[in-house]
Order: sequence, then structure tokens, then C-alpha cells
Amino acid sequence: MRFFGHGQSQSETKCKECGTDLHDPERLRKHHEKAHKKLNEKCRLCGTVFNSLDELRKHKKKCK
Ligand SMILES: [Zn+2]
Ligand SMILES: [Zn+2]
Repeated sequence: MRFFGHGQSQSETKCKECGTDLHDPERLRKHHEKAHKKLNEKCRLCGTVFNSLDELRKHKKKCK
């Protein structure tokens, strides 16, 4: 086990999109999916396209 070994910085823990360091590749992956993944989610009611599922979710509460 070499948790603190040098040269172990192969795995990316810093988000390329916003520069946030998640300190963990798995957390980075989840962060990127939530924050930056271009989902192009479309509101079925008004047709507005959103880049993130979170934004669409917020919008859906207002759009009825
Ligand atoms: Zn980010
Ligand atoms: Zn809508």
C-alpha cells in the first residue's frame, strides 16, 4: 500500500471546468456529472434547453 507515495498524482482530482479540487477521482467524477455534464435536458412544457439536470429540475418547479 502506497497511499502517500510520490508520483501517485496520475489520477485527476481537479475539475478542468471550474478548477475545484475534489481531492478524490470518484468525487471529481460525480462533481463533473452534476455540475458540468452537458445533458441538453429539454423542458417538455416550454421547450427550454438546460445544460444541467439540476437547472431543469429547478425550472420544472416554476414551469407548470
Ligand atoms: Zn467543476
Ligand atoms: Zn418549461
